[in-house]
Amino acid sequence: MKFEIPSGAQKILQTLTDAGYETYLVGGCVRDLIRGVGPHDWDICTSARPEETESCFAGQRIIETGLKHGTVTVLEDGEPYEITTYRTEGPYSDSRRPDYVKFVSDLKADLARRDFTMNAIALGLDGSLRDPFGGAGDIQAGVIRCVGEPTQRFQEDGLRVMRALRVGAVFGYEIEEQTAQAIHENRHMLEHVAAERIHVELCKLLVGEKAGDILRQYPDVFCQFWPQLEPLITLEQNNPWHCWGGWEHTIHAVEAAPPELILRLTMLLHDIGKPSCKSTDENGIDHFYGHPAVSAKLADEMLQSLKFDNKTRERVVTLVEYHDVQIPNRERSVHKWLGRLGPETFFQLLEIKRADGMGQAYELVKDRLAELEEMKSKAEEIIAQGQCVSLKDLAVNGRDVIAAGIAPGPEVGRVLDRLLEQVLNGEVSNEREVLLKVVGIGKIATFKRRK
Ligand code: ATP
Ligand code: MG
Repeated sequence: MKFEIPSGAQKILQTLTDAGYETYLVGGCVRDLIRGVGPHDWDICTSARPEETESCFAGQRIIETGLKHGTVTVLEDGEPYEITTYRTEGPYSDSRRPDYVKFVSDLKADLARRDFTMNAIALGLDGSLRDPFGGAGDIQAGVIRCVGEPTQRFQEDGLRVMRALRVGAVFGYEIEEQTAQAIHENRHMLEHVAAERIHVELCKLLVGEKAGDILRQYPDVFCQFWPQLEPLITLEQNNPWHCWGGWEHTIHAVEAAPPELILRLTMLLHDIGKPSCKSTDENGIDHFYGHPAVSAKLADEMLQSLKFDNKTRERVVTLVEYHDVQIPNRERSVHKWLGRLGPETFFQLLEIKRADGMGQAYELVKDRLAELEEMKSKAEEIIAQGQCVSLKDLAVNGRDVIAAGIAPGPEVGRVLDRLLEQVLNGEVSNEREVLLKVVGIGKIATFKRRK
């Protein structure tokens, strides 16, 4: 097989090979080349010890941050390449990195420490593959298989449980039976894994094309780090709008959302509060009054526990909170919500409402889905016309408000917010003179503050 390798990587392989060291491309990049997908980074492994690697690249820019674990990063053609000495790993007692690494001289020992057969293939400069665990065959067959004994591998590092699911979701590969069984049996190993590492894998997993299949097959794994999901998994919804139980509805909604992290996370968490809001009426129909607020609170907690950044967390929580809000399909209402949420959040809300509807009884919601499309067009039109949708579009600013007699301080912001609300409601027009008059005659004081 002939593979395309960037010249920077070729130069590094050549330099180390010329100096007498075995050197290969390894890991994700080799896997992706075999899959026919362009790799996003190029990892190199070598029999050279770190200090030997460094001396091969003396005079070149070298980054030493991974030195303790045997990694030297060399900049070639402006690109960083990680060069790691063949090694085996000690236990992960801090659950982030191996306690120690042991340098070895045998490529096979280095490949054996890697998680899955597809990630344990080395590619030499001459295009030859070193594949002692049958990774290329597994890639061809679309199979995820542990290198070695699955139970032992998951017990060494629980993160591998999530890595397997991530690869399954992103590539759509089947998880081999023994590996799958060991994932279920060793899911508790995730307890020992740092939240930041789970976070990374979860984010990649959720935007995977087959994220839904993985959620369907491995709910127990997700409950391991997010026990708040548990009641949703078994939730029944006897309600004409719903043709699925809570978990299957959630999965359909995740699948229907575009593969963007915010939207997928929102769909995963949007109904998380339903179990605790469930009531059944005299006709046996289930209701979930108030669940969006409860879901939002739980989502906030869950996202914090996995160390999501504030921006992502706040956006997801907002979308969860508003996922069920009824927005009439009228220009006035669209304009109001567009201004209230801001265009980006508003368009995301339309997306998640669509995805939510796709997980419900289709016949009953299809008109509603068509309305969402119309609302999207209305919103696009409002923006194209340059109508006021945010504070920055308002015909007055903070200085104007102060000049009109409002004391500098937080009240200025509040007055601007209220003016915006009035403009969005169509109560006053977005004209400087009009707005200043409203401020000047103190009518502002009677405005109701809205969030
Ligand atoms: P991606 O394409 O997302 O980068 P990747 O497989 O390259 O996927 P990395 O996290 O970049 O993932 O890891 C590089 C390589 O290191 C993997 O291909 C695998 O060989 C090995 N590896 C990474 N994490 C583990 C782990 N937890 N246990 C064993 N091997 C691992
Ligand atoms: Mg990688």
